[in-house]
Amino acid sequence: MATKTKVIISYILIFAFILYSSISIYFWSENKNSELSSLENKVKSQDTKITSLEKESNDYRVKNIGLKIQTVFMDNNIVLINSDSAKIYHKYNCVNYDTSGGFYAYNVNAAVSQGYLPCSKCSAPIPVNSSIERTYMVYVTATGKKYHSDGCQYLSKSQIPISLKSATQNGYSACSVCHP
Ligand SMILES: [Zn+2]
Ligand SMILES: [Zn+2]
Repeated sequence: MATKTKVIISYILIFAFILYSSISIYFWSENKNSELSSLENKVKSQDTKITSLEKESNDYRVKNIGLKIQTVFMDNNIVLINSDSAKIYHKYNCVNYDTSGGFYAYNVNAAVSQGYLPCSKCSAPIPVNSSIERTYMVYVTATGKKYHSDGCQYLSKSQIPISLKSATQNGYSACSVCHP
């Protein structure tokens, strides 16, 4: 074969190779682009989901705060009385409160004015400045700044009886273990 023909064939082969490579790269990049845009769509849809879940979670948080406020209000104001002869009132979650035999729900002031006394197990609310606050006995220790109900684990070393009114007036605060 003449040298000239060889050179021409070489050029054709090189050209064909370049053409083939360019077409391959073009299709490969088209394919990657469509993969990329499909991934972008997935990310967008996940973002929308996240936003909607965040909104939902925030709604629950707001609802939860509302329920907590409601619970604290009920615990501080509404007391429950078993329909038995014991003149004791309880908080909703007290172990001594039992709905099986019927029950009454009272405003705490109404319960006190009708002669009911707070249960010592459930830290039932006591109206401020009531006769109960003056006479209700709690216990303090020689060193601590908390007042306790009878039987609290923190009363093993010393147990000094004091009225709830004097305890609060003297800067004692309620023990978070026995909830006096
Ligand atoms: Zn109780
Ligand atoms: Zn205690």
